[in-house]
Amino acid sequence: MALLIDTGLTNWISDAEIANEVRSAIPGADIRTPDAIGNADEITMVAVVGLNDDHLRQLPNLKLVQKLGAGVETIVGNPNLPSHMRVARLKPDAPAQGIAEWFLAYILRAQRHMAFHEAAQARAEWLPKEPTFTPQTTVGVMGLGHIGDRTARMLRAVGFQVLGWSRSPKQIEGVTCLHGDNALPQLLGRCDFVCAILPSTPQTVGLIDAQMLAAMKPGSQLLNAGRGDLIDEDALIIALDRGNPGHAVLDVTCQEPLPTSSPLWHHPRVTITPHVSGWHLGDALSDVAENFQRLSSGAPLLNEVDLARGY
Ligand code: NDP
Repeated sequence: MALLIDTGLTNWISDAEIANEVRSAIPGADIRTPDAIGNADEITMVAVVGLNDDHLRQLPNLKLVQKLGAGVETIVGNPNLPSHMRVARLKPDAPAQGIAEWFLAYILRAQRHMAFHEAAQARAEWLPKEPTFTPQTTVGVMGLGHIGDRTARMLRAVGFQVLGWSRSPKQIEGVTCLHGDNALPQLLGRCDFVCAILPSTPQTVGLIDAQMLAAMKPGSQLLNAGRGDLIDEDALIIALDRGNPGHAVLDVTCQEPLPTSSPLWHHPRVTITPHVSGWHLGDALSDVAENFQRLSSGAPLLNEVDLARGY
């Protein structure tokens, strides 16, 4: 039984570093990287950022695909994924904290008119402008899972009025929790800021369309750190031109990297960050090691994905 680490990325933690961390958690384990795959028949688990068809073709005894992150849509949605394949994801603290901070940072940036003051400073102009009062500001959090729950609690602790929205009912102290499709327009209509942290599934792709955008409060802000395909980007540009919502802050876009030709880059009411909100993995790699051991011993996996639900 061997574990292959194959992120396919060159601008993140290297495969060798990940392999070393996993090896140090389970000394003696057979951990491989693409430059030294050895006998592919022995590989039962692969740790990836995105699964490609080569993995499925070249690893005949693969049983578990471990996502080195949270979003599993390209794995679950791969039409060649065999029905017996198991998929697991990570639920580390570090990116949840990072994404919650990203939402908070961009909300405070707007509350305190930071862009306005920086522009005024560049012109040597002294222009007092009243900040928005936090207790009178309502923030909605779409998705109350591992990251959304953390975000809602952090925003509540800072003093915002917080509404949350998920598929199933939730209880979070101090947060008004709504659920189900019918509740979404209600949340959008009440919030000054809407923070989206949903997985990409057939139910969420294109969910924020022209109709949902029209339900948002005029001048409100839409922040998305989940997946870009949640938002119909053409409809967003039309809605922003109308001022409803008044601004969008996007860490994720439909196509990544965002093509230079995209009108989102230069729209005055759009702020883009290049998928950096949940950068750090923290100590999550110990869960990769743990799942390799669990797969070998037949124990229940950590954070196994419900393939039918898609997240
Ligand atoms: P979880 O699976 O823990 O939570 C997902 C949440 O979304 C749950 O509350 C779920 O509801 C809700 N949800 C799913 N489908 C629907 C729906 N149709 N209607 C309403 N609510 C729905 O995921 P995480 O919080 O860990 O991560 C969320 C997503 O964030 C990931 O899938 C990934 O795409 C993205 N992400 C982005 C990163 C970045 O760097 N920008 C980093 C990490 C993740 P319920 O609780 O009822 O099941």
